[in-house]
Amino acid sequence: MRVFEKAPAKINLTLDVLYKRPDDYHEVEMVMTTVDLADRIELIELETDEIRIESESRFVPNDERNLAYRAANLLKDTYQIKKGVKIKIDKHIPVAAGLAGGSSDAAATLRGLNRLWSLHIPRKELADLGAKIGSDVSFCVYNSTAVAAGRGEKITELPAPPSCWVVLAKPILGVSTQTVYKQLNLDQIEHPKTRDMIDAIKTNDYEKMTRSIGNVLETVTLKGHPEVQQIKELMVTSGADAVLMSGSGPTVYSLTQQESRADRIYNSLRGFCHEVYVVRMLGTPSET
Ligand code: ATP
Repeated sequence: MRVFEKAPAKINLTLDVLYKRPDDYHEVEMVMTTVDLADRIELIELETDEIRIESESRFVPNDERNLAYRAANLLKDTYQIKKGVKIKIDKHIPVAAGLAGGSSDAAATLRGLNRLWSLHIPRKELADLGAKIGSDVSFCVYNSTAVAAGRGEKITELPAPPSCWVVLAKPILGVSTQTVYKQLNLDQIEHPKTRDMIDAIKTNDYEKMTRSIGNVLETVTLKGHPEVQQIKELMVTSGADAVLMSGSGPTVYSLTQQESRADRIYNSLRGFCHEVYVVRMLGTPSET
């Protein structure tokens, strides 16, 4: 038996940091959604009680460090499952990009194994389990549009956002999420308009959505990486309605409702930027 799962990339429409908690985590509030740039996960039953990872990507580990491996292992431990699985990861989401690729692979593995092994674990329970692997995994289990609070694991689902094109651009540089959070000065934060964003999504108001995007980590990453600012400027001059960095970066995305503009933005970035993608905003769970 085998099952397939799509693992879509997430983008932050907002990312706010409220305060630093006694446990050293940051209390966040984020509105996140998905785009149709996705990894493809194939789960194949094994005769033996082991977890095997297979991936052609040079950038992800093929062993127990892989987040998909950790997801399968956690599921086996928690529910005492004596079964094995081969996890094939067809990687399309750029790695260490602020697009939660690893978290999405872990979440897709949880969803897929829930089906492969007929576990019937409710989505909320699966999302709570995912939080043990990483802060973004809970959101990725839902795979839709949501407000994520706490350290990212408290999920309140929203309807799909207004439909639009998303142009994603990732420069060649690695950004460490931990370092970005460490450099964040909580006294100098300009908080994004989270309530307005939620309202824009609920009322399907595209203009309001473009006015309400914001990410408090952006200034930190921009300071160390001027090329990220250059990408933002190119996107704006090419006609983007809104431009924002996702997560801790370095990927920057722009929004437009016109395909011709999306193409123009794409063309202005090719040659300047390592990886550029024109995709649709998804926001609702995708077909596997
Ligand atoms: P986030 O937005 O959640 O901070 P990210 O997009 O910045 O995530 P990922 O692509 O998830 O970052 O990768 C972060 C690290 O996780 C990389 O160093 C990578 O080697 C490791 N990793 C482990 N498993 C995976 C996986 N299945 N896919 C991608 N990266 C993985």
